Amino acid sequence: MEFRSFKLKYTNCFLLRHPSGWLLIDTGYDWEWDAFLAGLARTGVGIHEITHLLMTHHHDDHAGLINPLVKANPGIQVLMSRPCADYLATGRHHSAPGAGYVTRRMALLAGIKARFDKAWTHTYPPYIARAQDRVLSLPVRLRELGIELDGAIVATPGHTADSTSLIMDEGTVFCGDAAANFFKVAGLHYCVVAVCDLSQYYLSWNLLLSGGAKVLYPSHGTPFAAEKLRKKWGRHTQVVPFKQSYAD
Ligand SMILES: [Zn+2]
Repeated sequence: MEFRSFKLKYTNCFLLRHPSGWLLIDTGYDWEWDAFLAGLARTGVGIHEITHLLMTHHHDDHAGLINPLVKANPGIQVLMSRPCADYLATGRHHSAPGAGYVTRRMALLAGIKARFDKAWTHTYPPYIARAQDRVLSLPVRLRELGIELDGAIVATPGHTADSTSLIMDEGTVFCGDAAANFFKVAGLHYCVVAVCDLSQYYLSWNLLLSGGAKVLYPSHGTPFAAEKLRKKWGRHTQVVPFKQSYAD
């Protein structure tokens, strides 16, 4: 399996080669279009070679550029879970009771960011699924979607209700925010900054491990051995609830 990647301010975008083009995983914030085009150019993949866009979930740092992307290449088929399609149509983060930051330090840092970064709204231009897009029933194998690669898209909820991961049969996993490897100063231990449901988040780690995960490529941070999830499993036991809705 051949894949390439490029990094936006916070988000990694991945491109998997398949016999008739490239599958792109996620985009970036809505203000990152120029950076997106520059990153794509560095990979050597042309925008018209992208056949599919897999959305790991609906958050602004992943979904902000769907509209300009499909405008630039209307032939792209967007792949998304049912809840992801519903949330994308709202253009804002879907919050859930019990959601919060994974650590106190993270809550503090996010509070400071929210105070000074007024552009941090957790909203983006809504995306309405087109007739040619595909709302997925999960799990689904890539070959069932006409992508001739050996891997499956699975539901890995916990960060959000709509989170999905792509597990390749040989153990490479593109996990979106179902795990992360960044901002170590906040004591995250491979969790992403915030979760909707912490116990579900860890159950999704089990699913990845039992599904044969070997190396994880998260949307945030550098790749790491799946074995690390086993070591850090259950490290956090409660979240720090959001002061206000994550979408506000
Ligand atoms: Zn997210």
